Amino acid sequence: MTTIQPYPIGTPGRPWGPAEVAAWQALQTRKRSYQAQVLSVIDSLRERYEVAQYGALDHDPDRYPLLCIRSRGWRDELPCVLITGGVHGYETSGVHGALRFVERHAASYAGRVNFLVAPCVSPWAYETIQRWNLDAVDPNRSFFVGSPAQESAALLRLVAPLRDRVLVHIDLHETTDTDESEFLPARAARDGVVNTRGEIPDGFYVVDDSEHPQTAFQQAVLAAVAKVTHIAAADAKGEIIGSPVVAPGIIHYPLKQLGLCAGITNAPYKTTTEVYPDSPRATAEQCIAAQVAAVCGAIDYALAHEAEVQA
Ligand SMILES: [Zn+2]
Repeated sequence: MTTIQPYPIGTPGRPWGPAEVAAWQALQTRKRSYQAQVLSVIDSLRERYEVAQYGALDHDPDRYPLLCIRSRGWRDELPCVLITGGVHGYETSGVHGALRFVERHAASYAGRVNFLVAPCVSPWAYETIQRWNLDAVDPNRSFFVGSPAQESAALLRLVAPLRDRVLVHIDLHETTDTDESEFLPARAARDGVVNTRGEIPDGFYVVDDSEHPQTAFQQAVLAAVAKVTHIAAADAKGEIIGSPVVAPGIIHYPLKQLGLCAGITNAPYKTTTEVYPDSPRATAEQCIAAQVAAVCGAIDYALAHEAEVQA
């Protein structure tokens, strides 16, 4: 029998207050540089793309500007593609997958789509390799009006004018071993509930919208990714992270109801990618390549099936 150790902050069964959040904040340290690893790459794209600042984190605005990348020569008649990465800052391949796509692949879609890319939605968490923001709030449960997460509120403001004009939104994530070892126990402690152990799937999977499922679209994304890395199998219960597998590599969440990033537009095609970087069968580079393949697969499918959703 395994004994679940209590999380080191707080009292089991009692939700955190300001003192516990402060204790948690005191444990967070910068482990990598947003400037060196993300902003410098965005800078290198300025010649070919429009880079705009859509906000800054209020606790250190100079260090944490929020930047997005857009197509030059935006044309209103073209469909919009929205790519978001780093909503969970620790999910490295999401950030670098978004940037890699812009660096190497976005140009091949020129004249067919407008791009809006927010590659690192939660930069403090990128540096501290955290799931939450500085206030111990998960940005990816906070995409709603009156959001408690400034990262989510800023992205919502940026995307609001395009909400009904996005054809495809790809939100890039990872499912890591630290979800099980650190982030889920932290969440249970913060919320004063009991943590239950789960199983981290080995492989790539996607989350579709239970309210508007697009199975063929998700399958096209998975087919593109399968050329790069393996797709996660269902566990013994036929589930991935506690949700029924509706088709190989696909689970459903009610995106808007849960305040998830993939629900911020009314795009007919939307997907949340989940790469497993701790797999013994996948390198960091493969994880980035898998994110890029997912983005390309999603856009290719959406463009080929655009007429169906306009009907
Ligand atoms: Zn995530």
